[in-house]
Amino acid sequence: MKISEIHVYQHDLPVRNGPYTMANAEVWALDTTLVKLVTDTGLIGWGETCPVGPTYQPHHALGARAALAEMAPGLIGADPLTPVALRRRMDGLLNGHRYAKAAIDIAAYDLMGKHYGARVADLLGGAVTERVPSYYATGVGAPDDIARIAAEKVAEGYPRLQVKIGGRPVEIDIETVRKVWERVGGKVRLAVDGNRGLTTRDALRLSRECPDIPFIMEQPCNTIEEIAAIRGQLHHAVYIDENGEDLATVLRVVGQGLCDGFGMKVTRIGGLSAMATFRDICEARSLPHTCDDAWGGDIIAAACTHIGATVLPRLCEGVWLAAPYIEGHYDPANGIRIEGGHIRLPEGPGLGITPDESRFGTPVASYT
Ligand SMILES: [Mg+2]
Repeated sequence: MKISEIHVYQHDLPVRNGPYTMANAEVWALDTTLVKLVTDTGLIGWGETCPVGPTYQPHHALGARAALAEMAPGLIGADPLTPVALRRRMDGLLNGHRYAKAAIDIAAYDLMGKHYGARVADLLGGAVTERVPSYYATGVGAPDDIARIAAEKVAEGYPRLQVKIGGRPVEIDIETVRKVWERVGGKVRLAVDGNRGLTTRDALRLSRECPDIPFIMEQPCNTIEEIAAIRGQLHHAVYIDENGEDLATVLRVVGQGLCDGFGMKVTRIGGLSAMATFRDICEARSLPHTCDDAWGGDIIAAACTHIGATVLPRLCEGVWLAAPYIEGHYDPANGIRIEGGHIRLPEGPGLGITPDESRFGTPVASYT
């Protein structure tokens, strides 16, 4: 099978009740990039990449489309059934830019599944569940508001909550965490995510003033070095998210024992092939992790759900999706939805969803 056409689409995803607030970003709408691979057999595969604005990571929507423009002419004629060879071919066309390569990789897995009549989860090693746990992430907000949202989400059935903090006095963050735990303590696993926004001083204070609350601290500070500097003084386990930029970095922090787990984005690490390698590294060292969107619609949500379904349950911290925060679905019938805090694994083949491409308008670029 050969890739005969590549079509790139731009699509806006408005944030419901926006903005969504993090320590370093306010998000009102997402600019997502969709990739349609057409093959010489007529099969079609879909991929997607959607940075959550230009300041969350060194990724941005225009950068994704520029990277795709750089690579796409050289991918015509490539075989989508050989994902390692495809990744090497992309690396031979462009250094870095894994978040753009992820869209091609996801589309190739969609094609592989359709070709072999298999679900992507089974191509990635085998689903261990048909009901994948999710988690809900609050934005940064007033303590009482966040505690109320936490109680609502636990009542909906979410097995895990993530409370966003940072970008304000740490006293308010500490009050928020305390009020959340007063409402939902013992009923849910809790992560507190600083999104790189805390100084080491404030991260230490948060941990010291809440030693009785069993949360994990996700990416409290900006760099691996800052986290490493305070790690031995914390009362809480530390997960790395934004700093886990590639497999080499993951190997470094795992090898040096610099974290207790990860938040991981399928697009950041380079797609489903790289994500499967990441999952196996984590399993070898019993490190829990998530399988998240950056953001995005049904295509990236399906990709995250398929890899999430393959994670050893005791290490699975859940699949975070943008679906509850954005309007609408690409696939009105089988779009990826969270129900009772869990996601039903789509039935195959491939990603198991069929985007209504009339929603995407005309491609912003096409390559043949
Ligand atoms: Mg995070």
